[in-house]
Amino acid sequence: MLRVTFKLLTLRNTVTCRSLSAAISTSIARRKTLAISPFTTVMGNQQASVNVNQARGMASENEVFSKEELKKRLTPMQYHVTQERGTERAFTGKYNKNSEGGTYYCVVCHEALFSSETKFESGCGWPAFNDVIDSAKVKLTKDTSHVGANLLLLIANPGMVRTEVSCLKCNAHLGHVFGDGPRPTGKRFCINSASLDFKSFADQKLDS
Ligand SMILES: [Zn+2]
Repeated sequence: MLRVTFKLLTLRNTVTCRSLSAAISTSIARRKTLAISPFTTVMGNQQASVNVNQARGMASENEVFSKEELKKRLTPMQYHVTQERGTERAFTGKYNKNSEGGTYYCVVCHEALFSSETKFESGCGWPAFNDVIDSAKVKLTKDTSHVGANLLLLIANPGMVRTEVSCLKCNAHLGHVFGDGPRPTGKRFCINSASLDFKSFADQKLDS
């Protein structure tokens, strides 16, 4: 029975992965990207986004920063979260309770990623958004680090497979996206404060 279930999962993944890998073959080299049913909708949208990126030639605009530069520029927590796929402790991030109107940028490459207009109080302990400013600016990747090598655990609870959210431009780890967010998207982008830099709308007006 378990073997049959696993085969079904594998088959579903293979079908999704084949079309996805054709679109983002370079970006999945580091980690295998595939979708399990709870995230198919999320991944499907992202696949379209990545195709758009390729059509725009955005892949060549990726920014690469040296470890030395980032260690100087970022705090240890910002470096750990964005470069080592870390997670800040719940309820400790500086933007978790931030309700000011403004834009959230990638702390590494300064790409505008999230708006206060999609931020909501999820109670999860991290800033939560129900959408990104532009889906073409983030990369979604299947993340099995929660499950490790325990295949039986994965089969018993496919929901433990999470979808990692990274900045497409610089590959910084941002957080994870889940399918239990509010309307209209139904998504919950659970993002580390340490991955973000916030600028209020008022400050943006002063700069312009
Ligand atoms: Zn970035």
